[in-house]
Amino acid sequence: MSDTAFDCVACGACCFSRNPRYLVLLPEDRERDLPRDSLIVDGERSFVDFSCGHCVHLQLDLTAGQAICAVYDNRPEACRAFRAGSFECGKAIRANGILGEKVREVRVA
Ligand code: SF4
Ligand code: SF4
Repeated sequence: MSDTAFDCVACGACCFSRNPRYLVLLPEDRERDLPRDSLIVDGERSFVDFSCGHCVHLQLDLTAGQAICAVYDNRPEACRAFRAGSFECGKAIRANGILGEKVREVRVA
């Protein structure tokens, strides 16, 4: 998430989903230091908890208009692979809207 044309901190669209199991951990994530209580564990598979409508690690500051990843250095492989300005990025913005729009939508749901 480092394309200068895209301000990820003011967006956060790719960290939202109504699917509580949207973000599955991959084998590469085994050594990453993610809090156990932030995960949904189902047998051999683990997911980052999105039950609140967005990633549990997304720290929202509506006043500042910021969406910060609280575990950035330990973020899962899928987050590392996600590129600002990519097709998937545009899709996430269209689906979820930028910060604010989506947060309001989630909180009234
Ligand atoms: S959807 Fe794109 S611009 Fe928005 S936070 Fe994700 S990578 Fe950045
Ligand atoms: S771990 Fe960080 S980058 Fe990945 S979905 Fe959660 S808040 Fe977004």
